[in-house]
Amino acid sequence: MEFKDLGLSEGILKAVEEIGYKEPTPIQAQAIPAIQMCRDVLGLAQTGTGKTAAFTIPMIDALAGGRAKARMPRSLILSPTRELAAQISENFVKYGKYHSQLSMALIVGGTSMDEQVRNLERGVDVLIATPGRLLDLFERGKILLADIKILVIDEADRMMDMGFIPDLEKIVSLLPPMRQTLFFSATMPGPIKKLADKYLSNPKTITVSPPSSTSANVEQYLVNVTHPRAKTATFIKLYEQEDVKNAFVFCNRKRDIDEVCRFIKSRHISCAALHGDMEQDERTAALNKFKAAEVQVLVCSDVAARGLDIQGMSHVFNWDVPFNSEDYVHRIGRTGRAGAKGRAFTMVLPSDEKALGNIHKLIGKKIDVLETAGATPTEAPVPAPSVQQKARHHNRDQKQNHRHRRAPEDLDDQVDVNNGSFGNDIPSFLQKK
Ligand code: AMP
Repeated sequence: MEFKDLGLSEGILKAVEEIGYKEPTPIQAQAIPAIQMCRDVLGLAQTGTGKTAAFTIPMIDALAGGRAKARMPRSLILSPTRELAAQISENFVKYGKYHSQLSMALIVGGTSMDEQVRNLERGVDVLIATPGRLLDLFERGKILLADIKILVIDEADRMMDMGFIPDLEKIVSLLPPMRQTLFFSATMPGPIKKLADKYLSNPKTITVSPPSSTSANVEQYLVNVTHPRAKTATFIKLYEQEDVKNAFVFCNRKRDIDEVCRFIKSRHISCAALHGDMEQDERTAALNKFKAAEVQVLVCSDVAARGLDIQGMSHVFNWDVPFNSEDYVHRIGRTGRAGAKGRAFTMVLPSDEKALGNIHKLIGKKIDVLETAGATPTEAPVPAPSVQQKARHHNRDQKQNHRHRRAPEDLDDQVDVNNGSFGNDIPSFLQKK
C-alpha cells in the first residue's frame, strides 16, 4: 500500500513525500482508513511504530476547512509527558506543513500560562496537552471543552502508571459524548481495558506488535555487578569497549541522575541530565543538546524519556534494572529504531534477581550475560552514607512530598529498588590522575 491509496489530501501527500516516507507503516495503513470513516480506534502499539502519524495525518485532513472559536478547541490530544506532547506537536507541524490555516497549541506544565491562554483565546484547532495543566486552565475558566470533536488519548498505560487516571476521567467527563475517540496504549492491563471499554464505541482494534516484544534490531546484554559502587567502573569499561555514538543512560531514581551525570562528565564524556525535577526550559535544553549531538550521553528517568524518538541512537545503558518490566522494553526501544541496529546493556545486582525474572518472563527469553565486558571492576570499599548525605536525601524527599500538585515525574522516586545509594565516591582507580 502507498500513501496515495489512502485518500489523503494533496497537502498531506506532499508533506509525507518531502519527509521521505515511502509507505505507510502497518498501524498507519489500518488506522488511517478507520479514522477517516469516523470510527473510534483502539491502537495497541508502542512508540516507534509510526502511531503518531497514524492519528495526526487523518486528523489534519478531518479538521481542515473548519475554524475554532475562541477558547473552544476542536480536537484534543492528551499525552502523559511534556516531552511527548512536544514531540506530537512537532509532528503536526511536519505533516501539516501545507495546512497552515490549522492552528495548534501546546498546553503543558512548567511553562508560562499567559502565552497558553493567549493562544487559546485566538482559537485552537488542535490542542495537545498534559492532563494537569489542562485541568488547571479549565478550572480557571480559560478553556471550554464542549466543542471537542476528536479526542486522542496517547500512551494510556503510562498515564495510569503516572497516576493520571482521575485527571483523565475528569477531562473526559467534560467532553461532548458525540465525538471520535482514538485510544493508544502499548499495553492493555485490566484498568486500561476498562477505560477503553468505557470511552470507545465499537472501535476498530489495531494491534501492531505484541506489547512485550523487544526489537530484533537491538542486541541486549546483562552485565553482572556485585555492588552498586561497582557500577561506575563497569559503565566506563563498557563505554570504552563499545563504539558509542550517542546513548541514553537510565536510572531508576531521580536523585541518582545528577550524580551519574556528574560522574560521566568527570570521565570527559559530554553528558546532560533529564528528569522531572528539572525546570521545563532545562529539560528542553538538555534534550535539544542531545538531539543536536552537542552531548553524547543523556542520563534520564523513565518518565522523562518515555517515547522520545531520537534517530540513530546507538546505545542504551540501564544503570539500574527497571523495577517495572515494561519499562525495560521501552528503555531499550530508544535504540534500534527505524531499521537501525542498536545495543543495550543492563547492569545487574544480585538483588535484581526478581525484577530480572519478571523482565525475562515479559519478553519471553533470557537476555545473554556479557562475560567479557571486564565486568569485575575493582570495587572501592562501600562507605555508609554520611549523616549529612542521609539528611540531604531526607530533606529532599520531604520537600517533594509536600508539593501542592505532584508533578507526574515525581512518581519515579517512589520506586525503591533497594539498590543502595549511589555514593559521591568514584572508585580510586577511576579518578583523574
Ligand atoms: P512514532 O511511533 O510515532 O514515535 O514514530 C516513530 C518514527 O517513525 C518517527 O521518527 C517517525 O518520523 C517515523 N515514521 C512514521 N511514519 C513513517 C513511515 N510511514 N515511514 C517511515 N518512517 C515513519
